[in-house]
Amino acid sequence: MSEIKTFSMKTDGDKRLSEHFTVREFACHDGSDTVKIDMQLIRQLETIRAHFGGKPIHINSAYRTPEHNAKVGGSKTSYHMRGMAADIVVQGVDSRTVAQYAESLGINGIGWYEAKKFTHLDNRSRRVRWKDSGSNVVKTFGSPSPSPTAKYTNSPLVGYIRLVPKHSGQRTHCIDRITPHCVVGQVTAARLGDIFSGTRAVSSNYGIALDGTVGLYVEEKNRSWCSSSNANDQRAITIECASDPKPPYAFKTVVYDTLVKLCTDICKRNGKKKLLWFGDKAKALNYSPKSDEMVLTVHRWFCNKSCPGDWMYARMGDLAQKVTAALAGTSGTSPAPAPVTKKCPYAEPKTALRYGDKGNGVCWVQWHLNQAAKAGLKIDGSFGPLTKTAVLNFQKKRKLAQDGIVGSKTRAALKKAVK
Ligand SMILES: [Zn+2]
Ligand SMILES: [Zn+2]
Repeated sequence: MSEIKTFSMKTDGDKRLSEHFTVREFACHDGSDTVKIDMQLIRQLETIRAHFGGKPIHINSAYRTPEHNAKVGGSKTSYHMRGMAADIVVQGVDSRTVAQYAESLGINGIGWYEAKKFTHLDNRSRRVRWKDSGSNVVKTFGSPSPSPTAKYTNSPLVGYIRLVPKHSGQRTHCIDRITPHCVVGQVTAARLGDIFSGTRAVSSNYGIALDGTVGLYVEEKNRSWCSSSNANDQRAITIECASDPKPPYAFKTVVYDTLVKLCTDICKRNGKKKLLWFGDKAKALNYSPKSDEMVLTVHRWFCNKSCPGDWMYARMGDLAQKVTAALAGTSGTSPAPAPVTKKCPYAEPKTALRYGDKGNGVCWVQWHLNQAAKAGLKIDGSFGPLTKTAVLNFQKKRKLAQDGIVGSKTRAALKKAVK
């Protein structure tokens, strides 16, 4: 699964390989222009960085030219010469803990340099561990410190299983997002497995095939390679849905219905009672979900793609609503939503009201602004600055004269808006 790329220090030195790593950090220390870098290693380093709470990783040595490798006494077959290895120090974390975590990720070549205080990692094809020197082979560095996350399970709705190696090992963030994608093709569950077994570095936790079959490709406990965002995929369950090959990449009805069921099941097993859709990238990504909330995110927020396609994007709110309703219906504990009362308990004022006024007439205005414009005002009968702002906003929206005064025209518009 290695993916080795060649860069030039002259032209690519400052180029970002990922969110936190640049080409320069992986260059040979002898000043050579050519730099070879395994992109799989970069993804693993991001995972390691995230696992240790975002502490910076220092790269002691990565790519080495054969000449330089010989000079520093590297092994004749060193993976540093292929750009597949890095000797790293995670700031404030001891080198054995790093080696243990790397082991849990399934990284094949791991060397723990206790005295020199660094950890060597490489993506060779066979599992080898050593301590201090390549000739001192060891079996294991011990089990990694237990993850704070709960038990992970997989969906009982799965009708096809093909676990692929393309993932970053156990996720470093608890599950609190779901990201539906469009495949850009009406594929079977097996075909999706073939795609994930091919040369491209892509995978998803689940897939929904054109006939509604749910495929499992990367277990829920693991971080899939799906949304062009390490931060998102560490915490999201990713679902690739069979879609038309052309815009708007529509799903078949059975696929969409299955997506609702699968999302409901994922929420239930992970202790969530609500699935939220914000329809706004900044809002969604900055939101810290409560322990019983799951947030929907979309691939298009993380790269220049239309995924999940305009067809699905237009239904994200519907998906959230259906799943949340299903969760409320089966949990038996959530109370039914309170019926919306549209009858105002306050008498309509007979005169114009403005900033500084007080009384039940102001309550009538505040109640109507809350109903008509979701103003969120406290109904206290006091015409203060917040009430005035809400009046101005309402007048602007209704194309009324913006004077902040509630006269007969504004009152009529408020009544009409609440009906
Ligand atoms: Zn090394
Ligand atoms: Zn996508």
